[in-house]
Amino acid sequence: MSLPAAILLSALAALAFTSLVPPLANLASLGLVGLAVGYVAACRFYPLRPCPACGGDSVQRSRGVFGGIRACPACAGTGTRLRRGVRLWQWLRRRTHRRR
Ligand SMILES: [Zn+2]
Repeated sequence: MSLPAAILLSALAALAFTSLVPPLANLASLGLVGLAVGYVAACRFYPLRPCPACGGDSVQRSRGVFGGIRACPACAGTGTRLRRGVRLWQWLRRRTHRRR
């Protein structure tokens, strides 16, 4: 390939790229907005998630020979934790509605 042809081709590629990117960026932001809306809806209607420490079992098993179980300290034996978004929401509400 001769040099002018290569330059022409790369210029064409750059042109195609710039014309391609804005719709892609729109699609990406639309996807992000959709994800955010979905997460807010999940926090509103399903504020709890299974405790990551015990996987929703609400107990922790010892690995020793006695095979004991105890209430999971992370979720206090409930097996559920509040979603991060809910905790952020509650933290924001505490800040805006400060007790006097
Ligand atoms: Zn737990």
